[in-house]
Amino acid sequence: MAVFVPLTGRAAIITGGSRGIGRGIASVFVEAGMSVLLAARDEDGARQAVDELRSDGGEASYLVADVADPDAGETLARTALDRYGRIDVLCCNAGIFPQASLREMTASDVDRIVAVNLRGTILSVRACLPAMEKARWGRIVLTSSITGPLTGHAGWSHYGATKAAQLGFMRTAAIELAPHGITINAVLPGNIATEGLGGISDEYAGDVLQRIPLGRLGTVREVAHAAFFLATQEAGYITGQTIVVDGGQVLPEWPLAVT
Ligand code: NAP
Repeated sequence: MAVFVPLTGRAAIITGGSRGIGRGIASVFVEAGMSVLLAARDEDGARQAVDELRSDGGEASYLVADVADPDAGETLARTALDRYGRIDVLCCNAGIFPQASLREMTASDVDRIVAVNLRGTILSVRACLPAMEKARWGRIVLTSSITGPLTGHAGWSHYGATKAAQLGFMRTAAIELAPHGITINAVLPGNIATEGLGGISDEYAGDVLQRIPLGRLGTVREVAHAAFFLATQEAGYITGQTIVVDGGQVLPEWPLAVT
């Protein structure tokens, strides 16, 4: 007997699925037999991700969309229903993390990060609800962060605010969605090795590694497997909760506590 009820034939929307953590989630979902609709702004990147997922034998397609666009969620939901006839899982993963100190931050910096990371999450969830409510089944997984909910990082106060706000949204949404058989949970990644880390110096990387008890960066697949668990039938009694995927980074009470 399988450990998990197979998710074969189910359909998932993954915002920001063209690279990084979202791309990792897409791979794991496709390997589990799910059809995946990716959303990203850059068409070339989205097409390449879909080509790779298909060449591995999976069903995937993309929609070019900016989740900051108020209509993006509705378009995504409609596209998934047109292509796959169902929306079983929504991963609100698209996010931006521009650096700005409080002194230099502009109102438009704040508006943009809130529009992508928070409003994009809320409106994507809202758009998928009719299909999930009809099916009386749904799994929603947010990609939050340790930054904001659990830790702070100079230069990312607006980012941390959006990542903590995602969890504030999640906790009330969980209560509203529970009667419909829909769960909503979040993964909180620590420092995950993505293509974007190419721009980070060896010095910074070495510094970070010394502070992570498991002594390495996480992989996108390690975040993806946590998201996958939350998408399963078996995770059906978990809602409004978080899974921290950070190699123990938030545990040491000060740097010398790491051996
Ligand atoms: P990434 O490598 O930069 O990938 C971001 C993905 O989101 C891309 O597919 C990107 O495609 C898409 N995207 C960005 N803005 C978008 C928008 N406005 N509308 C639609 N799609 C958009 O980032 P990542 O590191 O994988 O991060 C993914 C999520 O994990 C984010 O929410 C981030 O806050 C969170 N996170 C990451 C880490 C980490 O260490 N990497 C740690 C904690 C939390 P386009 O550019 O083509 O739109």
